[in-house]
Amino acid sequence: MAVAKQEVLSRDRGNQPLWVWIMVLTAHGGHCVYCAERPSQTLEHEAPLASGAGRDIWWNLVPACDRCNGWKHKKSATEWAFDMKMHHAHPKAGFARNALPLHVVEGIKERIVQVQREIQDAARRKWFERHYGDKKTPRLRSEKHEEVERCTKVLARYPYPPWESTEAGASETVCMRILCCGYHQKDSNVEFVTLPKADREDLKRMAYARGLWTGDLIGALLKPALEKWRQSQPADDGKAA
Ligand SMILES: [Zn+2]
Ligand SMILES: [Zn+2]
Repeated sequence: MAVAKQEVLSRDRGNQPLWVWIMVLTAHGGHCVYCAERPSQTLEHEAPLASGAGRDIWWNLVPACDRCNGWKHKKSATEWAFDMKMHHAHPKAGFARNALPLHVVEGIKERIVQVQREIQDAARRKWFERHYGDKKTPRLRSEKHEEVERCTKVLARYPYPPWESTEAGASETVCMRILCCGYHQKDSNVEFVTLPKADREDLKRMAYARGLWTGDLIGALLKPALEKWRQSQPADDGKAA
């Protein structure tokens, strides 16, 4: 029964909070690190727990589809890739009952390195923890998947990953990224500009050329002008009525 299986899998990764699920499953563009094709469905221990080398902690987790997770089973990624390569070389020798195509197998190592770099990015990790760390972890895996999907939609709305934007200030507890939560900070506000089409398009091109989001570009362009204007103002000696 589908529900019973889900329950088992849920318990299997039960000790990971929701934010870790979201952080890992949204990495690698939401795709399985092994086949690079199917959507990621589960947290996979890159170094398996069964081997004694793996630990049930975020830095040992990679996104995987259920099929690859099942096929890899208790092997390490290196062992599994080796067996699949042997399977392609000697199909009848029984190295792997199921195997990914050879060109896919050859990319596994590099993809794992890439995705681990992504997961271990402290700014990214902090963003997920601050946005989802307070949320109750659902019991069912399907409910966790719904949260992952919701987050994927949120992330798609940003012009670039919000954890890459600058921080509006320092905080030990809340998100301060200007792209998502900066406006929540005191003294910060969102301003709107209305531009004719030609200007808007050139602004977009200019932003693209500088590698900036248009909002950040407007802020960057305004700053020196504001600074110049401030300096042109008579010094406020506190006697102004
Ligand atoms: Zn897969
Ligand atoms: Zn935020």
